[in-house]
Order: sequence, then C-alpha cells, then structure tokens
Amino acid sequence: MNLIEKAIQIKNQALEALKKVVVPSSLEDFYNQYLAKKGEIPGLMTHMKEAEDKAAYGQTVNATRNEVLDAYMSKKAEMESAKLNAKLKSEVLDITLPGTEEEIGSLNPYWMVIREVEDIFLSMGYEVVKGRDVETDHYNFELLNVPKDHPSRDMQDTFYFSPELLLRTQTSASQAHKMCEMTEKKPIRMISPGKAYRRDDDDMTHSHQFAQIEGLVVDRNISIANLKGTLELFAKKMFGEKREIRLRSSYFPFTEPSVEVDVSCFNCGGKGCAMCKGTGYIEILGAGMVNPKVLEMCGYDPKEWSGFAFGVGVERVAMLRYCIDDIRRIYQNDLRFLKDFK
Ligand SMILES: [Zn+2]
Repeated sequence: MNLIEKAIQIKNQALEALKKVVVPSSLEDFYNQYLAKKGEIPGLMTHMKEAEDKAAYGQTVNATRNEVLDAYMSKKAEMESAKLNAKLKSEVLDITLPGTEEEIGSLNPYWMVIREVEDIFLSMGYEVVKGRDVETDHYNFELLNVPKDHPSRDMQDTFYFSPELLLRTQTSASQAHKMCEMTEKKPIRMISPGKAYRRDDDDMTHSHQFAQIEGLVVDRNISIANLKGTLELFAKKMFGEKREIRLRSSYFPFTEPSVEVDVSCFNCGGKGCAMCKGTGYIEILGAGMVNPKVLEMCGYDPKEWSGFAFGVGVERVAMLRYCIDDIRRIYQNDLRFLKDFK
C-alpha cells in the first residue's frame, strides 16, 4: 500500500468512526485521535519525505484533513442543536400554571375631576394655563383688589415665606398673571387648575391644601348673562343634562358683583335629600364679574373690556360626585380608597 492509499484508508476509517459517535465526550476523543496537532491526519505530513510524488501526496493529505474536519464540524453542530432542542423541550412553558396578576393603578378622584373639567372647557375653546404655587403678595393679593389693609386678608390665613412671598391662597393669582402677560390686550378665555393653601385646621371638610379650577373670560361686552350661560352649560356637562343653576349674591374682592352658584341636586333631582340638606340645590362654585379695578390694575381698560371669573372647588366636586365623606381621604394615598375609583 503506498502512502496515498494509506491516507485514504485513514480518511475512511475516520469517517466511519465519526458515524458511531453519539455523545459529546466521544466526539472529543475523535477529534484528539484524528484532527488534533498530534492526531493521525496531521501525522500523515511527517511521511512527506518518503512520498514518491510529493505534490500529489500533499494534496491528498490536505483533502483528507478538510473532508474529515468538515464532517467533524457538521457532527458537532448537529449534536449541539439536538442538545438545545432537548433543553427547550424540557423547559416548555406550562400555560396551565396560574400567573402573577399585574395590578393596574387608577387616577385619584382629584385628577379625575380636573381632567373632566379641563375637557369641558377645552371643548368650549378655553386654554388651560398653568399657575404657580409660590406667589408674590402682588399677584396673590394686590392685583386682585386685596390691598395690605384689606379685611379679607384675615379671612385667608396665609402661609408666608417672607412678607412678599407666600403659598397662593387661591388660583385667582393665575388670572392676574395672564392679564398682565398680555402685552397686546386681547380677549382671554382660560382655565387654570392647581392647588391653593390656607392655614386651616384639617377636618372632614377642610384641608390646608385644596385644589381649585380658576376660570377667566375677558372680552368686549361680556355681561353676567354670559357668565350664567357658561356655568349652566358647565353644570349640565358635569352633572347631567337636567341640571339647573341658581345664583346667590356673595362677596369676593376681585369680582363685582359676586355670586355663589348652586346646581340643582343631582342626587334627588331637586326634591330635597340628605346630600342637598333638603334644599334641592348644592353649592358648587363662586363667581362674578371681574372687578373693574382688577382689570385696570392688570392693564385692561374697563371702559373697553369686561369679563367674568369663577372658581370651582375640585375636592368639593369630587366629594359630591363620588360620595366621599372626608376631604382628607383624597390626600392620604390610601390604596384601599384609591382602588374604589378603577
Ligand atoms: Zn338632593
């Protein structure tokens, strides 16, 4: 047998041996026996000197090595994929096992009311203006016709940072900002939701922080009929088509005349019940025509412009709407309470 025949014999032996390999450890043995540096096939090259036709022998050895290496590589790939399949099969997902339930949160009723009121006024062409919680005395009081010696400053016990800086006591401060910001005086239709703060002792119906939604309309020829029409539309959208409103005379320094606005009771329809304390009406907001002094201080000539403003108590509406008995619940972040609003 010449060297070339010997090489072919080794190749055939190797390919036969490979067919019998079934476990990874014997594949490794196979590699060491035939293909490793000191294995039989690289070993063929040591006979090069003895070969009659060196070129032909070299080519045969190379071809042998390539053929056996290819066969080895595909066997290895085959075994690896078999191993992976077996693993996947053993780890198959059992869809009958009970899953872990994801809990979905819900909006605090505070935000539910704000978003609903925003939607109603956006649909009427109002813009939503962001106010600021920390205000100056100027915007919170002076521009709203509450000068330093005004008696209503006692009514509003205020959180002061300094004599000039405070936590706003009502969201009306944002209407003063809006009017002053208008360098070119144009009509305004805005609402501005946000928190206000007063030094109240917290109880079931009072909180030292509470939210209001301020509304302001300034234009030419705005009358109290516009105010009534707007609030009637709001009451119907918020509390139901059959609702009616009534205005009662009141007092706020920044509006003249000022009114309290009641809506016919959405619980009893006006017949009288515990919610409306038998009166058939529920107080929902304060409003009025913008005091001409306020217009003037904010750069709108009251001979040319007029307007109305209103302020909705967010917690009050939420409490009525969702039968919440204690205002503090809205701020306590008690998950048992919040889950009721899903
Ligand atoms: Zn009622």
